[in-house]
Amino acid sequence: MDFQPDLSLEAFREQVRGFLRAKLPAGLAGRLRIGTRSPREELAPWQRILNENGWGAPYWPEAHGGTGWNVLQRLVFDEECTAAGTPTQDTGAQKLLGPVLNAFATPEQKAEHLPHIFNGTRFWCQGFSEPGSGSDLASLRTQAVRDGDAYVVNGQKIWTSHAHRADWIFLLVRTDTEVKKQAGISFLLVDMKTPGITVRPIHTIDGCHHLNETFFDNVRVPVANRIGAEGDGWKITKFLLNNEHATAADLPMLRKYMRQIRMLAQQRDGEGRALIACPQFAQQVARFEADLSAIAMLVQRVAALEQAQDHSAAAHALGSILKVRGTELQQRMSSFIVESLGDFGPVAFAPPEADAGDALPMEDIARGLANEMFFRRASTIYGGTSEVQRGIIARALFQL
Ligand SMILES: Cc1cc2nc3c(=O)[nH]c(=O)nc-3n(C[C@H](O)[C@H](O)[C@H](O)COP(=O)(O)OP(=O)(O)OC[C@H]3O[C@@H](n4cnc5c(N)ncnc54)[C@H](O)[C@@H]3O)c2cc1C
Repeated sequence: MDFQPDLSLEAFREQVRGFLRAKLPAGLAGRLRIGTRSPREELAPWQRILNENGWGAPYWPEAHGGTGWNVLQRLVFDEECTAAGTPTQDTGAQKLLGPVLNAFATPEQKAEHLPHIFNGTRFWCQGFSEPGSGSDLASLRTQAVRDGDAYVVNGQKIWTSHAHRADWIFLLVRTDTEVKKQAGISFLLVDMKTPGITVRPIHTIDGCHHLNETFFDNVRVPVANRIGAEGDGWKITKFLLNNEHATAADLPMLRKYMRQIRMLAQQRDGEGRALIACPQFAQQVARFEADLSAIAMLVQRVAALEQAQDHSAAAHALGSILKVRGTELQQRMSSFIVESLGDFGPVAFAPPEADAGDALPMEDIARGLANEMFFRRASTIYGGTSEVQRGIIARALFQL
């Protein structure tokens, strides 16, 4: 692979920057406090702006109405959006469900759901994990029993991000208990307004509400809402989880942390010295710069393999290495930022409802940084835990 700067990619970066300068409304910029999803009132107008520019589905091929960008262009787009502080898109719909619909849905299902994804008018959440079925997802027990032209769903999901704000959920259910566990799973789309669904909040250490428990009590779901055949759920899930290894490290966020660290380096300590004058601080900054460069190179490598459609076990293992290394670096950098704030650390933990009227010294630098640090404790769990990733690496690269 070639590490020289790709000039066409730099031209593309300029195009994205130009678009963001022209089209990102000031009122929507810089509002995302932690690295999760923007609220509807910010996400929906931004999605409309993207769609009007033909960028409503930046991660999909042109044949499916997407931009047709390659994986490196998609990374540049994400990086520039993070740097400009845009609202997020509905990443569950864009990166997980959308490709599944494009590959497996019927024309009727596509006509029903795809326009809403492009226009940001229907929000999704992901109902996979259950108590006792996270890493071992195939053991899931939420049951769907056929009754005429509907399934009756009973069971519980957990860690359902944004379920309390979602319109629909894509759900894994067990439709057959007699066969091998993977073969008895089906993939359903469920309207969250269906009677029998209860969402209970899980409040997390980052001070925000994004996680939930989701209960299904005799929920009737039309059979027409099943994606693929009955029992195809595991095949579809493997397809869904295989997408976009190159984004696992969240390089745009790491680069944002580096910018914040550089900004902090110019701040003065109690004796009026810039933090960068402290040898321990400077050494740590240098180490982060080196770690970040290593991650950026690994991202390029994984992206090149994705571009070449290399689905080998070794390519998969590289994606896992990136996930482990990238998320560990997220945790180290975000912790370092909060530690470097010293006495201003408490300011960095902003209560969710605090408005600008509460501004304190260092507020614009520190605000939300501790929330982000606490949120990132979860990064080595979501998207596949570090232990599970290490298992994949051990098997694929070392035949252990
Ligand atoms: C912030 C956040 C958001 C999430 N959002 C969603 C969502 O929107 N929808 C959804 O469905 N799920 C979501 N999840 C759930 C997530 O996918 C699971 O937490 C994850 O898969 C781990 O499953 P678990 O929590 O059941 O832990 P377990 O699988 O029970 O793991 C417990 C411990 O055992 C270790 N372990 C398990 N298996 C192995 C193994 N084979 N080898 C070595 N060690 C092992 C794990 O690494 C971990 O340390 C989210 C989680 C978090 C933290």
